[in-house]
Amino acid sequence: MSRKLLLANDHVEGIRRLDVYRKHGGYNALEKALKTMTPEQIVEEVKASGLRGRGGAGFPTGMKWSFLAKPEGVARYLVCNADESEPGTFKDRYLMERIPHALIEGMIASSFALGARTSYIYIRGEYFYVANILEEAIAEAYEAGLLGKNILNSGFDHDCYVQVGAGAYICGEETALLESLEGKRGNPRIKPPFPAIAGLYGCPTVVNNVETIAAVVPIIQMTGAEYAKIGVGKSTGTKLISASGHINKPGVYEIELGVPVEEFIYSDAYCGGIRNGKQLKAVVAGGSSVPILPAHLILKTASGEPRLMTYESLSDGGFATGTMLGSGGFIVMDEDTSIVKNLWNFSRFYHHESCGQCSPCREGTGWMEKILHNIVEGHGTPEDVELLWDIQGKIEGKTICPLGDAAAWPVASAIRHFKDEFMQYVTRPQSIKDVKHYYRVHQLAEA
Ligand code: SF4
Repeated sequence: MSRKLLLANDHVEGIRRLDVYRKHGGYNALEKALKTMTPEQIVEEVKASGLRGRGGAGFPTGMKWSFLAKPEGVARYLVCNADESEPGTFKDRYLMERIPHALIEGMIASSFALGARTSYIYIRGEYFYVANILEEAIAEAYEAGLLGKNILNSGFDHDCYVQVGAGAYICGEETALLESLEGKRGNPRIKPPFPAIAGLYGCPTVVNNVETIAAVVPIIQMTGAEYAKIGVGKSTGTKLISASGHINKPGVYEIELGVPVEEFIYSDAYCGGIRNGKQLKAVVAGGSSVPILPAHLILKTASGEPRLMTYESLSDGGFATGTMLGSGGFIVMDEDTSIVKNLWNFSRFYHHESCGQCSPCREGTGWMEKILHNIVEGHGTPEDVELLWDIQGKIEGKTICPLGDAAAWPVASAIRHFKDEFMQYVTRPQSIKDVKHYYRVHQLAEA
């Protein structure tokens, strides 16, 4: 069983409240940071920890922090990206709901390290009830002198605000988030400049994910070097995984990076195996944006090594045979799942969420959705599968923000690994009834 750093106390009654959180060691790390460390020392500890962004990109957090411009007399901001909208991902919600002070303590300590007097938690609109939980926790922190002026008599002043978004997936992209936070439509900005140079209101800004910021607390407590001892290689520390789909025990798990994928799926300590004794068919390992892998490639790499829950192992083989750890949204599909229908569902999502600024994404996501709908409804042709392949290739890498890639990668990987299934849909009698019938027969034949 993995060691827990973020969810060690999630089972404690009342841990949402400040008094209970403090009884279990809460805000000790902040006290240590403010009273015994300089901001530079904290940045060095985060660098030494090897912590990588937990939102999806996996960029080294300490390095991101060190890019922050520090011009004299200009405000700096820390913005927490709590716009958790990636299908299959719900780990930040769990953390904020259960232990809101873990995030707030991380916000204050990180802000001290970055020299930010003001921070914002930008939370997705659908999480309005979690925003209320955060607001209550922030009020408690002000009351206790953990926010506001001269925090814990350290001379450090800090204010933290919660801003609720309006339910747009694209606002999880950091520059779209900043636009929205400034009160504008959440369109991604063209980079450079990066937020570290010109972010919120044109000022140097660090945007970090909820889990990333919360992880700063144990890093300060235990030191970066000790944190780096957990995990494997450049995948250090622990990671929250949202496990869903056809498993016996869906939920949020904190794992030490390096747990074998097979153990994660089948062990009772985690997912507990596939529901109803079915066979594993495929896994989307890091939220809907990452390539889907068939069972044999998610359990083992192409070279036959056991696949591990790390950034490196999951991406081993590139997109030809690998995937990404991404946001940690781990969606398990059993043998009865239609990959084509599942892909149509994802495509509808990306088409709906495209902000429309760039043509390949705006038009391409719409085309992919329509073609997949045709195929699912039994009106597709083999040429449609070729066209889908062509369109995804014309989106990837040709857009302002990563949503275009996020829409293209699932399509590319589904065709790459499950082309037979597409061909079954497009080479059978052209009516829904017949396709459904054929699919049922095919499943039985496979079993
Ligand atoms: Fe908007 Fe899509 Fe372009 Fe991103 S890739 S800026 S979501 S149109």
